[in-house]
Amino acid sequence: MKKELSAHAVDFIDDKYFDNLLNNKSAEPSQVRDIIAKSLDKKALNLDETAALLRTDDPELVEEIFAAGRRLKKEVYGNRIVLFAPLYIGNECVNDCAYCAFRRSNKTVIRRTLNDGEIESQVKALEDKGHKRLILVFGEHPQYNANYISDTVRKVYSVKHEHGEIRRVNINAAPMDHEGFKMVKEAGIGTYQIFMETYHHETYKKVHPQNTLKADYLWRLDGLSRAFETGCDDMGIGALFGLYDWRFDVLGLVRHSLFLQERYGVGPHTISFPRLKPANGVVHESDYLVNDYDFKRLVAILRLSVPYTGMILTARESEEIRREVMSFGVSQIDAGSRIEIGGYTEAGDAQTQVLEREQFSLGDLRSLDTVMRQLMEDGYMPSFCTSCYRLGRTGEHFMEFAIPGFIEQFCTPNAILTLMEYLTDYASPETRISGEKLIGKEINSVKNSIIKSKVLEQIDKIKTSDARDFYF
Ligand code: SAM
Ligand code: SF4
Repeated sequence: MKKELSAHAVDFIDDKYFDNLLNNKSAEPSQVRDIIAKSLDKKALNLDETAALLRTDDPELVEEIFAAGRRLKKEVYGNRIVLFAPLYIGNECVNDCAYCAFRRSNKTVIRRTLNDGEIESQVKALEDKGHKRLILVFGEHPQYNANYISDTVRKVYSVKHEHGEIRRVNINAAPMDHEGFKMVKEAGIGTYQIFMETYHHETYKKVHPQNTLKADYLWRLDGLSRAFETGCDDMGIGALFGLYDWRFDVLGLVRHSLFLQERYGVGPHTISFPRLKPANGVVHESDYLVNDYDFKRLVAILRLSVPYTGMILTARESEEIRREVMSFGVSQIDAGSRIEIGGYTEAGDAQTQVLEREQFSLGDLRSLDTVMRQLMEDGYMPSFCTSCYRLGRTGEHFMEFAIPGFIEQFCTPNAILTLMEYLTDYASPETRISGEKLIGKEINSVKNSIIKSKVLEQIDKIKTSDARDFYF
């Protein structure tokens, strides 16, 4: 790997400036309400405005922020929730991140890398549950170089079982050089996801020991710029909440989004906000663990700050928190996730984890079928749609909101068709009943009669034949 930064690499995180923004006195209620109104007008917020929301502690105003998050979610995203699952490929790692069970100094974790046959059986098991979208997860290790990651991506796409296939493979892996990003793009990745963990320099240094690859803050921060320079335009950013003051890291995420938008004309496709969880061999000595109330605040404030960016809520969180926080503007969740290596065949639906085999503990171990049913009962429309990416509609991802009628013409029909596939091929009888009822209702929101009759025709084909994978 050549350690060459992007053409205009710059460390755009100014800790002092963030501290000043966060230490200002609380904004006046009228000012907070103006900022909320701007966001409800679907305009992205700047750092000053985001900081004003972060400094708002008055419970009444915080409730208004929550309410605005819920409203924005409804107006911008409707009731769709996209589902995916993580697939851990290997946990060898040369880094020593203080918070992670895979760090090299942890001698109690069981190290393992899936071989080709094991990848195939994991993917089949995921397909047999109904998954269509995966994120592959890797430790950082010479063995998992860009070539290896690309081969793994191709391998995953090639596995097909009965009606099952994986139609979108995202990756979460250490930052690469230009050549590496080119390679994984050519292998057909969807989103390249990387978390900065914390944007706070001093904390970053503390949790990533100096003699490790990950200690290089700028190399990581600049990762997405290198990816953009090689033509990858579908990116996911994130921060690991609990390492430092959550307000600082929200500012970091918003600054990162604004930077990418300004420099490359495209912001990140998704933002993730994992909270630190207990992990094998990890002693948490953090003063910054985020409680549930502040977690809700941070999700709602992110929603308001970047109204058009997808937000991912993972199974690290419990069922209760997921159900509550989802309403603040989450667009993607994982379900039926197993994060032990080989877990999809070896752990099945067990409601416990073997932490020596995993990166951290999960809060929601429910099966995909249970989550699907719950989502529908809560009024959401689960979707496995992969259409935009397969038709090259990437980069300007928020065109779905900017182009009048896009959601009605594309997103809703695609959500209906992928849900129908799920119900026909994989759902339990109760989930199928809930799903068919929902489809009956959702189809009425497609006003265009040509599209509507096409969708009805395709639903019929899915139910009565082997035809699958219809999309708009
Ligand atoms: N090794 C790659 C890297 O560090 O970029 C891939 C990422 S790692 C396998 C996936 C993510 O898990 C990390 O970026 C980190 O944010 C998160 N993670 C690590 N330890 C965690 C913990 N104890 N609780 C919650 N999330 C954790
Ligand atoms: Fe390795 Fe990633 Fe875990 Fe750090 S977070 S120890 S780089 S797997």
